[in-house]
Amino acid sequence: MPVLRVALDVPLYRLFDYWSESASTVDIGRRVRVPFIRGEKIGVIVAVLAESEWPREQLKDALEILGDLPPLPPDFLDLCAFAATYYQAPPGEALLQALPAGLKKLNPPKRQAGRKAKAAKPLPSPPLTDEQIAAVAAVEPGGGFAVTLLHGVTGSGKTEVYLQLIAKALAQGRQVLLLVPEINLTPQLEERVRGRFAEVEVVALHSELADAARERHWRAAFSGSAGIVLGTRLAVFAPLPRLGLIIVDEEHDPSFKQQDGMRYSARDLAVVRARQHDVPILLGSATPSLESWANAGHGRYRLQTLAKRANPAAVLPQVRLYDTRRMPLREGVSDGLLSAIRERLERGEQSLVFLNRRGYAPVLACPACGWVSRCKRCAANLVLHLADRRLRCHHCGFEHRVPPACPTCGNQDIHPYGRGTQRLEAWLAETFPGARVLRVDRDSVKSRKQWEAVLERIHGGEADILVGTQMLAKGHDFPKLTLVGVLGADSALFAADWRAPERLFAQLMQVAGRAGRAELKGEVIVQTQYPDHPLFAALVAHDYPGFAAGQLREREQAGFPPYSFQAVLRAEAPEMADAIAFLKAASGLPPVAEFPDVLVYDPVPMRMARLASLERGQLLVESHSRPLLQAFLPRWREAIEQLRAPGKLRWHLEVDPFDF
Ligand code: ADP
Ligand code: ZN
Ligand code: ZN
Repeated sequence: MPVLRVALDVPLYRLFDYWSESASTVDIGRRVRVPFIRGEKIGVIVAVLAESEWPREQLKDALEILGDLPPLPPDFLDLCAFAATYYQAPPGEALLQALPAGLKKLNPPKRQAGRKAKAAKPLPSPPLTDEQIAAVAAVEPGGGFAVTLLHGVTGSGKTEVYLQLIAKALAQGRQVLLLVPEINLTPQLEERVRGRFAEVEVVALHSELADAARERHWRAAFSGSAGIVLGTRLAVFAPLPRLGLIIVDEEHDPSFKQQDGMRYSARDLAVVRARQHDVPILLGSATPSLESWANAGHGRYRLQTLAKRANPAAVLPQVRLYDTRRMPLREGVSDGLLSAIRERLERGEQSLVFLNRRGYAPVLACPACGWVSRCKRCAANLVLHLADRRLRCHHCGFEHRVPPACPTCGNQDIHPYGRGTQRLEAWLAETFPGARVLRVDRDSVKSRKQWEAVLERIHGGEADILVGTQMLAKGHDFPKLTLVGVLGADSALFAADWRAPERLFAQLMQVAGRAGRAELKGEVIVQTQYPDHPLFAALVAHDYPGFAAGQLREREQAGFPPYSFQAVLRAEAPEMADAIAFLKAASGLPPVAEFPDVLVYDPVPMRMARLASLERGQLLVESHSRPLLQAFLPRWREAIEQLRAPGKLRWHLEVDPFDF
């Protein structure tokens, strides 16, 4: 069969046929070198056919079928094809984004052998709690497809459940895929996995690996030599011939959503993959996504709960709300929180002040003329960074030095307004002169090495007061940390983004969970002007189910996901009018009228209406039925492709969008 159907990394919604006299179906899944336009490309053979719809004269000859790797397995090709169809992505892009860079190069660099990890003695496991035993028993690696949602409060020992299940799968000779939100922030998890399975090859897969290492790890997954693949969202595509179990840790985490190129949800694709493979999947979280929680409620997912902390001495922290309408604040901090910090200092314990805003102040302004430091390229303010005296846009990266005077009126008395972590750090250091204050955010900690050094300092008791963003909220165990103070949480309560409360609750539960992990009892103080808000009531009661029930009721009434299914069409252009006109035209295309059950809204500017000098608009489409939406989208997309748009306009579709 001489016709090769090839996926190529080009932004076109089609595959390409080539001629190769000697080809046969064993070549499906092999890489192939083909002529393309005036150059050459490496593609992947997805089918071998007896004939093409194109006449033979129009088919170019393939140059070389590459035999350096075994063919990519059918389930890998199926997953990529599913992703392309579901997310409306060009099939070649979907497939080739899943391969390491070296395998797509015409002249790949020489491969270096990897270092073999030294085999250490495996660390023992603790005796499990009853809840852990039940959770481990509920998942059967090798027992066929089933989704289990593991809802476990912080410190309940979810990781131990993962480790036990991994052991079960390995004992059956199967591979395990363990997906985590951000590998650099969780060196402890990686250490625990490597420590427990010292005799097993564990490979990491994430975007910060150098190309060579990523390819080496990918090959170890593909060859089956790696027993455990620990990775971020892109690892969901790793080919695993002996896959027996998938685990998604912190399954609610927004970083499982890819935000450019093919905008996929790795959590959702992991479930699809488990189904295609007929293996079980475990989704773990202290605050599951409402989508997963609703699925558990409908019985589509099995629910396993770890309601208690694994270490009986470590009880959940007490959460208190400080009503800041009735309290004097200094630099945003109440006297009550200050004295709580002072107590910790006297007892030699640690405190953490959580403020999810980095920089010194969110804006610099002139009280005389009203000038504010705005980004020229975005609908956003420039954030003042006093540490290096720069104004910085957190959206596009634009920056320049702090002006000595107001650029419009020359007034030298310009002020920072509001506060970020740098300002809080400086003020706390001034207020507690004997204390060692450590700021932890993306400005102070840029690399994994720095992050590990910071963790070491915290563990070694070399810091008394931590000031940090959500970076500090992820699953770390700080045994001496007994106080968490939360500042600036209110802004998310009334945000236009209806997912904001879900995100805030998850963040607060996570950061609160840092307190009192060991024998020392923990306390959490949340400063708010809205102490009666149901979100805070649920937080005080450690009541995720109550919070989730309330949110799901609101979503059902409003017809939001998971009670509807959405996609957005976005357009960006130098002029908003062009973006909106394009979206308007798209909203009137023929498929829209043919699908009365798919609701197409009016185009609107995005919340960040301008980013990096481009104006951005969007059009929401929604249906009560996922199959209907899925039937509509390809037809609509094909019609949109035929639309005439100004040369500088770019558009894309996002299915199951997260940010608006
Ligand atoms: P989670 O991931 O749910 O936040 P971890 O798995 O990190 O919780 O466990 C929290 C702490 O409890 C860790 O220090 C862990 O070593 C300990 N732990 C876990 N399971 C047990 C157990 N069965 N007995 C005693 N300690 C445990
Ligand atoms: Zn001025
Ligand atoms: Zn900007």
